[in-house]
Amino acid sequence: MSENQTPEVPRQSMEADIVCVGFGPAVAGFLTTLSRGMMNEDGTPVADSKAMPGMPPQVICYERADDIGFGVSGVVTKGRGIRASFPDLDLSQIPMASEVTEEKVVYLLDPIGASRKSGTLKMGEKLMGLMPGCDKSLHAFELPWIPPFLKKEPGMVLSMGQFCQWAGSQVMGSGMAQIWPGTPVAGPLFEEGRLTGVRLVDQGVNKQGEPEAGFMPGMDIKAALTILGDGPVGPVSHAVDQEKGLPEGKHQRDYAVGMKMVVQLPEGCDLKPGTVLHTLGFPEPEIFGFMYVYPDMSASLGIFVPSWFDNPVRTAYRYLQHWMMHPYLWRWLEGGTLRSWGAKTLGESGKHGEPFLAGDGYARIGECSGSTNVLTGSGVDEAWTTGILLGEAVLELLREGSDFSKEDLERTYVAKRRASWVESEALVAEKARDGFQSGVVQGLIGMAMSGLSGGKLNWGSAIKRPYERIPSIEEFYKGRITPSEIAQIRKDCTAKGQGLHDALMDKVGWPEIPLDGQMLISHQDALLMGGKVQANPGYADHVIFKHHSVCEACNEKICIEACSGQAIAMNPEGGVPLFDREKCVHCGACLWNCSKADPKDPEATNVAFRAGSGGLHSAEN
Ligand SMILES: Cc1cc2nc3c(=O)[nH]c(=O)nc-3n(C[C@H](O)[C@H](O)[C@H](O)COP(=O)(O)OP(=O)(O)OC[C@H]3O[C@@H](n4cnc5c(N)ncnc54)[C@H](O)[C@@H]3O)c2cc1C
Ligand code: SF4
Ligand code: SF4
Repeated sequence: MSENQTPEVPRQSMEADIVCVGFGPAVAGFLTTLSRGMMNEDGTPVADSKAMPGMPPQVICYERADDIGFGVSGVVTKGRGIRASFPDLDLSQIPMASEVTEEKVVYLLDPIGASRKSGTLKMGEKLMGLMPGCDKSLHAFELPWIPPFLKKEPGMVLSMGQFCQWAGSQVMGSGMAQIWPGTPVAGPLFEEGRLTGVRLVDQGVNKQGEPEAGFMPGMDIKAALTILGDGPVGPVSHAVDQEKGLPEGKHQRDYAVGMKMVVQLPEGCDLKPGTVLHTLGFPEPEIFGFMYVYPDMSASLGIFVPSWFDNPVRTAYRYLQHWMMHPYLWRWLEGGTLRSWGAKTLGESGKHGEPFLAGDGYARIGECSGSTNVLTGSGVDEAWTTGILLGEAVLELLREGSDFSKEDLERTYVAKRRASWVESEALVAEKARDGFQSGVVQGLIGMAMSGLSGGKLNWGSAIKRPYERIPSIEEFYKGRITPSEIAQIRKDCTAKGQGLHDALMDKVGWPEIPLDGQMLISHQDALLMGGKVQANPGYADHVIFKHHSVCEACNEKICIEACSGQAIAMNPEGGVPLFDREKCVHCGACLWNCSKADPKDPEATNVAFRAGSGGLHSAEN
């Protein structure tokens, strides 16, 4: 095992035929396809289990979160893969699901004057102000036309949590696969270069992972085939990449954190179920927003803070509140109630970051395989569809009696994937976001070029590693806050054990958030509303500051500013930040937000994100 070090001690071992890591839409699509095809029409299994002769193949899925409905993502999707799996899909059977009825893209102008904008953008906004679609009282410009590549109609809005529970209950009802929530996988097992299964996380250890009284070494689960579906920051996929490397020229450098809420809309709100709003422009030009309206007068809404936002105090929580209070949105939200909250990383490298899709004994699906389409902003349909393609391939291989070699998986799964719409659309999207490396305007133009030309024209830019983009706080606030004021803020906040972002944002004109205990609540209250689950005792910490000397020399400490759960805090004694796993929501954003490189690996930062216990429990997220 690589980064997920566990001590070499005798361990129990169990045999299965297929083991899956994570239960997101990718593995849900895989298990739906596999479980339906596992029995022949005459009632015999398509293959005999090698782990349990005389039985059908034994399939087990381990999910880290405490339930299979954990999926922090309000979703609008064309749902082509989902509809292919469920041709008679009746959305009324899935709580919080609706057909898309109306779609808008809205540019939000800054009603406060605190956003940081380039001269070109300011000029563009002046022009927008003169156009007919601009509502000056709402400080918003509704785009008269939505580019076809962004349109999701016909499509559906879903709660990822509800959808995964619905799909998961059908898989389990089939009796063809077991799903075990609350079971983090520590890492892959390799034997002579072949992936031979996974190791579950140790229990009865201290925070550093050292055995204590009651030590229970994580079990080894041996399987002929391991399916990696652990998402954009999955530690198991990450460990496989460390072992196998990435294909020549590939790199995973683009991410965003999505922070969202489910809210109960106020009485009298006239938003129709199935309404989809996409916003850009505010609170900072780099931050995109979304709102999807569900049938029961509730809505999923939130923002994305990308890794190319060159801001050393990129706090998603405060920006989310400013975004909600924008007059265009607040007219619908004021008087409503927050029902749940959460945050999750999105892998936005797409094709640039595509790893080896298969190897001896393993295959990857979903976001950990680079499937998310960065042009259309669609991840669920792609993740689910890669799961279907792998499911079909595995059924073929089971019938053949294959031992799941790299060659077999490439001949079936990878070939199907290359021939699918996921691949052809990913190729169009490959360079669609590169322009954002040079600036927001360049990024938007680049997206339009790629989308309208089918990927033939792009705005080319070299893709920097996220940490290479982060300026010092002094540089970022140059001309707005003096270095001596920053030094004082740093001193005061360090003494109080607080991050700097609130003090810095206040200083440049962001107004205080008028907390109302209902829709606008403190970050700590949001953790509780989000359904914070205590980490089980006896697990090791899952966020690690790798080289303490690097943290000690770090002035930005962006890990603290950007932490979605306020789980990383200023150490009043200076130096290495403090991590409190009881507040961690497992969004993985610290992994790529850290502003310093790992001295041993320029593609990695100084933070390690491992499999751990706890996080959020919210079936409606
Ligand atoms: C706020 C937000 C809004 C979004 N909106 C949209 C949208 O409107 N439309 C759209 O198409 N996409 C959207 N996305 C993207 C979409 O959610 C992802 O593309 C999709 O969830 C990827 O599916 P996946 O199965 O590959 O991975 P994930 O959904 O990330 O699932 C991976 C699973 O693996 C589990 N796991 C991780 N590590 C381990 C481990 N070590 N052991 C066991 N289990 C583990 C995780 O807990 C998780 O359940 C959004 C994302 C966010 C965050
Ligand atoms: S984890 Fe990264 S950002 Fe945080 S203090 Fe250490 S080096 Fe700085
Ligand atoms: S410490 Fe936890 S909550 Fe904070 S950024 Fe890292 S994973 Fe997210």
